[in-house]
Parts: sequence; structure tokens; C-alpha cells
Amino acid sequence: MSENMKLSLTGKTAIITGSASGIGRAIAEAYARAGARVAIADLNEAGAKATAKEIEAAGGQAMGVSMNVTDEASVNAATAAVIKAWGRVDILVSNAGIQIVNPIEDFSFSDWKKLLAIHLDGAFLTTKAALKSMYADNKGGVVIYMGSVHSHEASKLKSAYVTAKHGLLGLARVLAKEGGPKGVRSHVICPGFVRTPLVEKQIPEQAKELNISEDEVIRNVMLKDTVDAEFTTVEDVANLALFLAAFPSAALTGQSLVVSHGWFMN
Ligand code: NAD
Repeated sequence: MSENMKLSLTGKTAIITGSASGIGRAIAEAYARAGARVAIADLNEAGAKATAKEIEAAGGQAMGVSMNVTDEASVNAATAAVIKAWGRVDILVSNAGIQIVNPIEDFSFSDWKKLLAIHLDGAFLTTKAALKSMYADNKGGVVIYMGSVHSHEASKLKSAYVTAKHGLLGLARVLAKEGGPKGVRSHVICPGFVRTPLVEKQIPEQAKELNISEDEVIRNVMLKDTVDAEFTTVEDVANLALFLAAFPSAALTGQSLVVSHGWFMN
């Protein structure tokens, strides 16, 4: 009888974008506890370096790198710095993201382009850079995209975000097919609402747009369709990211996994 899988990432190198804060940071911490070397890649260079320091202080291996996921040269330089330090990339978590809420008729074209660039150009550029390393020595790897329940559901005011998060499903599925023969697996994690800075900012914004109280935004908009009126936590998302990174075969690839207190059920 074969053994059950172990949630160990010992000897693996992971790049996690947008990991100076929120969900990405929790994933970096979980991966480091599981034995991975983690690169904290973020536009906020000081935050990335501080996060890496804290992970090291807790006994992990980490480095902070400045990366703007919308800029090809920046993505390539940061990825090269990680490969130079640690040899290869085993895991990419393409997580950096922002939110902009507005009805379509008031959504500026520049905001639309900015959001799509961070979520979609960022996913593409970081994937392309990581694949070079994953393919070069035939050892493969795992790419995890941070989608959202909004990869499957729509909400008012979020045209660009819903469009981008749906788009990630397409990229992940193409990568599962192209990367499969080369040992690369890909997934999309689709969280419900998690109380990170990205969501805290939306609560007053949505209250104003929808002309309701902040409490009503939480109860009647954000958590309305959950089974238990609970927020998903950064640890919930990090646990799933750990499971997907540690999974030992391509039996599991090309999937979107929803972690949302039942808000969306596949
Ligand atoms: P957050 O605001 O706490 O963290 C986002 C991080 O991304 C920040 O550190 C920021 O500096 C970084 N970033 C922004 N633009 C960047 C760029 N151009 N290049 C590199 N880094 C950049 O947000 P979060 O809630 O942790 O969100 C992380 C991801 O999770 C996003 O993709 C978001 O869409 C997704 N998500 C969040 C929730 C939620 O409820 N919080 C739910 C579903 C999906």
C-alpha cells in the first residue's frame, strides 16, 4: 500500500507575488513552515523585505524582491534574482492584485486597463518567467493563480475584476495542457471574502456606491450567500495553497478550487 501524501515543501523554491500583505503573505508563511524557500515578490519592496525578515526570524528561509508584475523587465529581473540565489523555481503563486469598484458607465478606461494589467498581464508575465526555469531542467513545477469566487460569479460594480478573475481560469487551463507533458501543474484558488486591506477598503466604498451602511455591505453583500455568514481567512486560503503545491501528481491539475464558506458551489 502506498503512503498518504505529506504536506512538505522541503527543498522547494516558491515565488509568491503580492506577498508583502494579506493572502500572499499567509501563503508565504505557510510554505516556509512547510520547508520551502520563499521569495516575497511585491511592488512594495520595503514590505517584501520586512516580511522576508519576519519569516526568517520565525525559522524559515525567505528573500524579499521588488517586482512590478505589470512590467516584463521587472518580473524577469526578480525571477532571475531568485534563480541566482536558489537555483530554480518550483512553485509560482501569482497572487498580486487590486480592486476597483465602480458601475460600468463610470468605470474609467485607465482603471480598467490598470486592473487587467495587474491581474492578467501579471499572471502571464510571471508564468512565462517561471516556466523558463521549470522547463529548463525537466523538473516541472506548480503554478497557482489567485482567482476568486468572482472567477465564477458576477457582482455589481466589479466589471474589471470579474473579467480578470474569469480570465485566469482560461490561462490556468491552457497551462495545465501545455505544461502537463513537462511536469507543470496549474490551479486557480477562488476565495470568498477575506478581511485583508483589499477588502477593508471596499467596505466603505461599496456602502457609498450602494447607499447602505457598512454593516449591511458585510451582511447583505459580502457574506449574503455563505452558509454561515463567516469570512474566509488568510489561513484557509494558505492551507489550500499548501495542499495544491504539495500534491504529488498531475492527477490534480487545471482545477479551480473554491474556498468561500459555500458562497459558490461547483
Ligand atoms: P492585499 O491588498 O492585502 O495584498 C495585495 C498585495 O499585492 C500588496 O502587497 C500589494 O503591494 C501587491 N501588489 C499590488 N500591485 C502589485 C504589482 N503591480 N506588482 C506586485 N505586487 C503588487 O490583497 P489580498 O486581499 O491579499 O489579495 C491578494 C489576491 O487575492 C488578489 O489577487 C485578490 O484579488 C485575491 N482575492 C482576495 C480576496 C479577498 O477577499 N481579500 C478574495 C478573493 C481573491
